[in-house]
Amino acid sequence: MNYLSLLSNTQAYRTFIKERDEGTLSHAYLVVSPDADMNRAYIKYFAKALFCENQTVCNACRACELIESERYGDCTVYPAEKEGEKTQKIVTADIDDLVRQSYLKPVEGARRVFVLAGAENLTEQAQNKLLKTLEEPPQGVVILMIATSEYAMLSTVRSRVKKLELPYFTPEQITEALRDEVEDEDRLRLAAVSAGGTIGKALKLARDNSFLDMVGLSLQILTNMQKSSDVLSFSTLVMKYKTSLPAFLDVLEIVARDALMFKTGHKNMVMNKSRVVEIAKAGFTFAPAALIGVIERCGEAKQSLKYNANTQMVVDTLLFGILEGKYQWRKS
Ligand SMILES: [Zn+2]
Repeated sequence: MNYLSLLSNTQAYRTFIKERDEGTLSHAYLVVSPDADMNRAYIKYFAKALFCENQTVCNACRACELIESERYGDCTVYPAEKEGEKTQKIVTADIDDLVRQSYLKPVEGARRVFVLAGAENLTEQAQNKLLKTLEEPPQGVVILMIATSEYAMLSTVRSRVKKLELPYFTPEQITEALRDEVEDEDRLRLAAVSAGGTIGKALKLARDNSFLDMVGLSLQILTNMQKSSDVLSFSTLVMKYKTSLPAFLDVLEIVARDALMFKTGHKNMVMNKSRVVEIAKAGFTFAPAALIGVIERCGEAKQSLKYNANTQMVVDTLLFGILEGKYQWRKS
């Protein structure tokens, strides 16, 4: 749960708490957060702040615990978690339920909170139904929505909610926040760097075993790819990650950066600390400029994939490019 504490340092959360403490809460918030995997947990954290008996989101009091398990009388979370179903989406019936419940008196205190997780999935029809409640909210009702993009919401909805934005987190913040979740330090650092700023992706990567295989293959490419005829076999190995090529490119980039750091005397900056001998070996046959070239080529490959270039061609271009750079810089 440590990672949730990252939230408490964000501008969005501080604004929310300030409004709570000053008694100026809006009746509806739209929290925009890129982390689809974590958003449900994030928005529940905001909800806890409105009920926590210790004011701080202690995660230990009755209110915090009941909100976490989504059984708190005055806080309803949509879509309801259904057992055995992995992805639930908010449906129009959820909004009907919200509207109906919004007229009921709070059970515990003065507030009734409705949480909409994954609000980007709300249909236009559902949003229009919600609009009425947003326009004339019953006393004490607070609606907390979280969405990966505000543009999934109708402008009429957007204009009636207060927007708060959660940031992308830095690799350092993610590493720190996930220390209790991920034991292997190398794995954690790599995942944090490749996660693109979200806790959800970092957790997924850290728990994905193929991630470490990717490190191994990256090391092999740098160490053992010597001549053009090697490219074909390495290309086949890379194509095993056809469906997760951007992740592989992230890893290759990190390994090349590690080799560069080692080579230029910044040993403490190496991410794969447990594999520093292999890193040194991988960098041995490369000039620093050639390693920078590897990093740049990974970036170019990612760009090409974004523009839907042929995957096989992207991989081959990358590998030939790495080989070419290796010899070009050695000669000069
Ligand atoms: Zn609490």
